[in-house]
Amino acid sequence: MSYNIHPAVNNGVQASTDNNFTGGKLVCNCETDRVEVTVNSQSAHNHLCGCSKCWRPTGALFSQVAVVPKESVQVTANGDKLKVVDESAAIQRHACTGCGVHMYGRIENTGHPFYGLDFIHTERSPQTGWSAPTFAAFVSSIIETGTDPAEMSGIRARLNELGLPPYDALSPALMDVIATHVAKSKNAS
Ligand SMILES: [Zn+2]
Ligand SMILES: [Zn+2]
Repeated sequence: MSYNIHPAVNNGVQASTDNNFTGGKLVCNCETDRVEVTVNSQSAHNHLCGCSKCWRPTGALFSQVAVVPKESVQVTANGDKLKVVDESAAIQRHACTGCGVHMYGRIENTGHPFYGLDFIHTERSPQTGWSAPTFAAFVSSIIETGTDPAEMSGIRARLNELGLPPYDALSPALMDVIATHVAKSKNAS
């Protein structure tokens, strides 16, 4: 059985083609008046995400999402088409009202462990130098959006085969970042 994990990795994970990459443009999927976001930074922590909130291409089991410093993100065309998907979510996902693509996600809560980072979908960029995905997060969550639980072992095996170790939360490194933040805020109060 072949799984549509994500179009960007289905034929193997493509390593970044440029060690000195300093960012590029993201575009939405509209035929005309495309929303354009300019990112003046390489991406970090690129990964696949199985949660129900991240935007994913039609038919893909996972989204592909990375972070960049929020200072490096600027809407450079047709920003009037953007609207926050869910104002109550920790990550404010700014989506195109024309095509539905999420152009960037921002954390407004200064106490959040990932405050200062914006979430972007690097496959929306014509540039190919972005950091490659290295793991898959919230894998079990794809069951919530309709995947048959019986398919999960096959999907996890495919992720391992692609070199994208599957986790049911974030990666150990990012879980450590969150726990460190929690420990520090406890000590501060
Ligand atoms: Zn659009
Ligand atoms: Zn997600």
